[in-house]
Amino acid sequence: MADPRDPRPLIGEPLSLDLLNTRWRHPVAEDLLSDLTGYRIWLSSAGLADRCTADPAGLAAALTARSALAGVASAEESGQAELDALNEVLAHGRLVHRLAGSGPQESVEVDSPEWLAAWLAADDYLGLLQQGAHRIKRCAHPSCILHFFDSSQNGRRRWCSMAVCGNRAKAARHYVKVNSA
Ligand SMILES: [Zn+2]
Repeated sequence: MADPRDPRPLIGEPLSLDLLNTRWRHPVAEDLLSDLTGYRIWLSSAGLADRCTADPAGLAAALTARSALAGVASAEESGQAELDALNEVLAHGRLVHRLAGSGPQESVEVDSPEWLAAWLAADDYLGLLQQGAHRIKRCAHPSCILHFFDSSQNGRRRWCSMAVCGNRAKAARHYVKVNSA
């Protein structure tokens, strides 16, 4: 459930893309993670408010993860530097498997608590790649920087949202038609 204070145009994508989507341009460049208040709102929308503290160290880690994710998501073909940056974030945590009396248990361990949200986001991206790298998309509107995971059956989703960018593109096409008539 998104935090009602969350001002972003696109909320609720998988965690890695949701972290990328803390930056948007509708119509001017905005950044939810420009301060601790925004970071707290992001944690809340992402369902992490009770697992992560909204402190400066956590915000710094989240920003590191966001920039690493932007590197691998945006580059046509990610270079080694982009891969290293994401792997550095991933190196701060690990998935631990244990057998408990109730059965198998899986938990996340991080070097220090501030890395939890950042690690979860980076790890989520690997999960999306396993589900289908071609479904990780950036909105087709040239001035939009939002990302989404295309879970539509035919895999033809193009816009972050039809209401915002789909219609902007339609209006632009109409404008071109009217002016070239
Ligand atoms: Zn868009």
